[in-house]
Formats: sequence, structure tokens, C-alpha cells
Amino acid sequence: MGNVVFDSCGTSIFEEMSRLAMQADAVNLGQGFPEGLEPPEVVEAAMRALRDGPHQYPPMLGLPALRQAVAESARRFLGLDVDWEREVLVTSGATEALADAFFGLLNAGDEVILIEPAYDSYPVIVRRAGAVPVPVRLRPPRWDLPRDALEAAITARTRAIVINTPMNPIGKIFCDDDLRFIAGLMLKHDLVAIADEVYEHLVFDGRRHKTLFAAPEVRDRVVRIGSAGKTFSVTGWKVGYVMADAKLIAPIARAHQFVTFTTPPALQSAVAFGLRLPDSYYDGLRAALETRRDFLVAGLRNVGFDVGDVGATYFAVAGASRFDPANDDAEFCRRLTREAGVTAVPISAFFGARDVRSHIRFCFAKKRETLEAALARLERWSERPEPRAAS
Ligand code: PMP
Ligand code: GLN
Repeated sequence: MGNVVFDSCGTSIFEEMSRLAMQADAVNLGQGFPEGLEPPEVVEAAMRALRDGPHQYPPMLGLPALRQAVAESARRFLGLDVDWEREVLVTSGATEALADAFFGLLNAGDEVILIEPAYDSYPVIVRRAGAVPVPVRLRPPRWDLPRDALEAAITARTRAIVINTPMNPIGKIFCDDDLRFIAGLMLKHDLVAIADEVYEHLVFDGRRHKTLFAAPEVRDRVVRIGSAGKTFSVTGWKVGYVMADAKLIAPIARAHQFVTFTTPPALQSAVAFGLRLPDSYYDGLRAALETRRDFLVAGLRNVGFDVGDVGATYFAVAGASRFDPANDDAEFCRRLTREAGVTAVPISAFFGARDVRSHIRFCFAKKRETLEAALARLERWSERPEPRAAS
């Protein structure tokens, strides 16, 4: 018995590349997870909570302490007023929050605009929710939002737009103008936005996160999603949160109660503690990641990759045409893993039509020695006598 959605979607690119990296004993800069950045005080808070309990189902919407902390942090970092009792839901990771939002808000046949490159779970869960993903593509090298194409993609059936800022995989931050434009479309066409903002605290060079949720005219149409995995460098914990107007939270919470129902209470307590850490924690995280970014980006450029500026997230995207004249990024990533012992992920995996195939993504959120080892391997590989470039 087959399932059209899950039969056709294959294994996630992150899992596939991590398995290959393990088999080849490669330095894994593919799947996006950080190394050595877990704040010890947050881990200790989890240990305390695990020791002291409780260990039973917490409230379905999430521990009050965490929902309060989520609302407080929205005020502290974004100047937003959020009602913790009616407008916040805790989920098992942003992945669950996204699924709950799609299941809770979409009806069969609704269309959902996905801006590509798009995180891999969006189109699959949108389809499983019975809705239809409609891609709008950003293209290298500038990855600008094509406003005309976006507006042209909207039909009478369009219900939602997913906006991921800062954006995985390309590290793009949508500018105020883009957000204003999207807010205008939402009002004109009666849309909701699913704002995937898991990288909200990983914004560099003195810039700050901007959210559609702050636009008063669409405040009641935006579902804002965050992840403790990113904010506290604990991607395995899977603690996420959603904030939205109570009218939107209600159906999303209904979906949540039948997807996971709750999230481990000890981890919720620890995340509540983490969200109240002083600004110095957040500044330190950004500074550590900036240093890692600068090191990897300079090293990749030195090897001969064409790397643009990286404003946010864990990721540097490299144009690989010089080493991969065939522009087959998926095969190139497999080859790089085998030949160089370094793993990246192909950008084509973020495009439904797989038609942007000349770029690969490296995760820089790693310890210095991991990045050094990866660069040393890439340098050796790029200097091998065999001709690699089309020249
Ligand atoms: N959205 C984006 C854009 C992501 O990159 C990720 C993975 N880090 C997620 C959602 C899922 O986050 P979580 O691990 O909290 O489920
Ligand atoms: N978000 C991570 C990335 O983009 C991976 C998450 C996952 O493996 N599903 O690499």
C-alpha cells in the first residue's frame, strides 16, 4: 500500500549526507547543527529539572513558565506584546510547529506559496495536509525576492505564504521593504503567513532580526515560529514555540494535541531559563558564530569556491561551478565526501524542480578544529593534479 506523498519524497538530504559522511569518515559540514556552543547553565537547568521532576504530561499548550518566557523574549528582543496565555504554544521543535500550522490552518486544495530554496519539510507536509505548494524561486547570485513572480503566483485558492527569515540555506535576511510588500499582499489577497524564524538570534554584523509579526496591519495573520535548538545550540532537544493571534493558535493547538500533545517538561523548563539569560549570552553566541563564519568563508574562498556574504544562520553557500562544471550539485556533494572527506549539502535539494544546481551549503557552526580539518582537506583535494575545472 503506497502513500503518494511519503513514497515520493525520499530520505531527507540532511540524513542522507550525514550517513554518507559517517561512512566516508568525512568532516560533516552538511547537516546544520552546531558544535561546542551549548550554554552549560541551560544544560544544568535541564539536569535540575530532570532530577526534580515533574515527569508527567505537562499542559498541552506548554509549561506556563516557558510560554511566559517566550512572550517576555518577544518583548525584550522585538518590542512585541504577546499574551502568553492565549497566543503562545510550545511544540516539539519548529518541525512540529510547522506541521501543526499546516495541518491546523490549511484545507484540501488550498495553495501555499513557498519561497525557494525552501526548507525540506515544507512542501512535503503541505501536500500531506492536502494543500498544494506553489513555488516562487529566488535565483543566484543575488537571491532577490522576485516581487512580480510572487504576486503572479497568488490565485483565489492561495491561503498562506511561508516566509523563512533569516533563510536556510542561503543566509538571506528579508529586508523591511520585502516584508512590507508581503504584508501588502497578505491584506490584498486575504492570506496568512507562516513565519519560520528559527534563526532569529543568529543575525550578524550588528544587524537585528526583523519579523513580519511586528507589522501591525498583519499581526493577526502571522504565525511566528522559533526553535530552542538554534537559540541554545541544542538541536537534539526539539523544543519549538509558536506565537500568533489566539484565533490562529487555536486550530494549530488542536493539531498539536494529536501530533505530539506535549514536549518533555524538563527541556521546557531549561529553555524557559535560557530565554531569560542576559543579553551577554546572545551577544556571545552571535560573536562566536561570526568568528566561525569569517574563518570558514575566508578558507572556502581561498580554496576557490565562490562564496557570497553571509548575514545570518549557520550556513555559507558556495558556488561550485569551478569544481563542478556539470552543475550537478548532488553528485558533486557525494564526490566531495568521497574524494575530499568533507560533506556539504546540495542547494538543489531545496528546489522542487531541482533546477538550481550549481551551489552547495557548508555549515560553519563548528569548532575551530573541525573547520580547520575541513579546510585542510579541501585545500589538499583542490591541489590534486587531476584537472577539475572546465578551464
Ligand atoms: N526551519 C528551518 C528553516 C530549519 O533550518 C530547521 C532546522 N534547523 C527547522 C525549521 C526545524 O527546527 P527544529 O529542529 O526546532 O525542529
Ligand atoms: N535544519 C537543519 C539543516 O538545515 C537540519 C535539520 C534536519 O536534519 N532535519 O541542516
